[in-house]
Amino acid sequence: MKNPSTTDSSCDVPQPAPLSPPWLEGTIYLEWIGEGRMDAGLLKRIQTHVEEIFHCRTRVRIRKGNIPLAFDPNRQQHSSTVILRWLLEDVPRDARKVLAITDRDLFIPILTFVFGEAQLGGTGAVVSTARLKDESGAQSGNPGLFLSRLLKECLHELGHTFGLTHCSNNGCVMERSNTVFDVDRKKSALCRDCAILVGDRVREEGK
Ligand SMILES: [Zn+2]
Ligand SMILES: [Zn+2]
Repeated sequence: MKNPSTTDSSCDVPQPAPLSPPWLEGTIYLEWIGEGRMDAGLLKRIQTHVEEIFHCRTRVRIRKGNIPLAFDPNRQQHSSTVILRWLLEDVPRDARKVLAITDRDLFIPILTFVFGEAQLGGTGAVVSTARLKDESGAQSGNPGLFLSRLLKECLHELGHTFGLTHCSNNGCVMERSNTVFDVDRKKSALCRDCAILVGDRVREEGK
């Protein structure tokens, strides 16, 4: 893989400063590659949020077929690195980024699990919903909790593809998350510093 990848076992952001319109060229593709059925409503919510934060058009892409060789029978989990490599073998011509979302539990060898993995400054990222449904310690009666977590992890991994590393600003979506509680503490927005870095990165890439 050309770009190094980053994983996540996983500012108060008073006024985040997202990129300004006009929209960036290219499209961010969202691909459901789970074993269960795709939740079209959920993906629509993610699309809307990703467009708001990155000012890039999004499209949902459905790809048939199994992910080859990603399942590790000893761990009973899927390798996020193998999935990422597979994802990058077939990237649409107009794709600026490709984000795969799966319900499979993901791992890298040194960690028990990861919420996702992304190419730092590259094209591909993958996020798993498998560990985001944990309700232990969560506020009861919060039906939006799962969606909120998924949105944050999608933004986080896409942030890595735009060249962002982990951020220490309190509440920034680019903070490292090792548990769902870490995810819950974050906001679903880039802090001002990270938003500026994404803007710089976009200009370096030639818009
Ligand atoms: Zn990360
Ligand atoms: Zn930040």
